[in-house]
Amino acid sequence: MNTSTTVQQRLLTPGPTAVPQPVLEEMARPIIHHRTAEFEAIFAEVGQRLAKLMQTRGPVLSIAGSGTTAFEAAQVSLARPGSTVVAVGGGKFGERWQDIFDQYEGTMTLKPLRIEVPWGEAVSPDTIEQVLREHEDVSLVAVVHSETSTATACDIRAVAAAVQSAAPGALLLVDGITSVGAMPIEQDAWGIDALVTGSQKALMLPPGLGYVGLGERALMRLEEVKAGPCYNLDLRRWLKAHAKNTVPFTPPVSLIRGQLVALKMIEQEGLENVHKRTAALARATRAAFTTLGLALCSHRPSDSVSGAYYPDEVDDKTFRSALRDEYGIHIAGGQDGRGASWSGRIFRLSHMGYVSAEDTLAALSAIETLLLKLAPGTIACKAGEAVAAAEAELVR
Ligand SMILES: *Cc1c(COP(=O)(O)O)cnc(C)c1O
Repeated sequence: MNTSTTVQQRLLTPGPTAVPQPVLEEMARPIIHHRTAEFEAIFAEVGQRLAKLMQTRGPVLSIAGSGTTAFEAAQVSLARPGSTVVAVGGGKFGERWQDIFDQYEGTMTLKPLRIEVPWGEAVSPDTIEQVLREHEDVSLVAVVHSETSTATACDIRAVAAAVQSAAPGALLLVDGITSVGAMPIEQDAWGIDALVTGSQKALMLPPGLGYVGLGERALMRLEEVKAGPCYNLDLRRWLKAHAKNTVPFTPPVSLIRGQLVALKMIEQEGLENVHKRTAALARATRAAFTTLGLALCSHRPSDSVSGAYYPDEVDDKTFRSALRDEYGIHIAGGQDGRGASWSGRIFRLSHMGYVSAEDTLAALSAIETLLLKLAPGTIACKAGEAVAAAEAELVR
């Protein structure tokens, strides 16, 4: 970020997201050694508060790395060798989990099975149910709750019910990387066997930690299958250390300290209020996009991130550079994958974590002004109308 500018900088990308000042200050404290009672106490409290956030009675492992590290660890540790493993596509991240299953196909004799969904659409629970009924030996189903690349959320509660009824022996592994802490999700009550999230999205921390919540059935699977074809990524190793309030390898101590402060902030606001704030910002943003005449890139929009297609005459690089350099607004473009190529075609704005109505309105105002300058003929409204539509959503 440009620190020499007098324009306030707002990081509104769907990861990494802004980090609150009290968390930054906590992370600036002197490093303590991790094999100490002091660290173990902090670590234990972080684990308890994460479990509360994910609404699980099971352990929540904190793994150094990014969200992908934690998700791959869950995939490789929970898949039963020789079985069919299912991953739902529909975006960059779903496709990544498909790629990871493919990667272990040989070493674990897995039979990876892909469920494809058009980008911008959510997987239907009926489709999952049908596929699972056609395959008897499915051991693991990986589904993304909030697909950040397409700004799309699926009905993960209904997906969980479908998995339970069609394949009672299969575990459900959910990518909640942009849903936990942003949208309602209840791990145990909804029957999610393993739930993964990351530090740099809704949890108000820099990148560097991935979390895996393990339900009872996932814990049983880890006992039943003795070891994965990996070392650092084997969750059994992390689970064993977790029971002693620690981790197997040197942890990012500063991040863990910061996470404790961020989790307390979430609890202070109240998880439900956090969800309401996130949803309101998403509604406001969608109203502004629609008023501008932009098409949303999702048919079932997520509340943690919003995305819209550019008008034809707007160039992604020009637009986002101007937003950043002239207005201090940092947003994301689109991504490419097997199902679609959205880089250059869409832009995305995050509503997760440390973001207020003021931040969102500032971003929408800048987006509106710039689009009116760059594509005056195609924008459907006059100056101020998109922001007014957003504000109208916020006062409801
Ligand atoms: C960001 C993200 C990931 C990947 O996380 P990394 O921390 O970049 O590895 C996976 N899934 C979703 C839905 C994400 O938003």
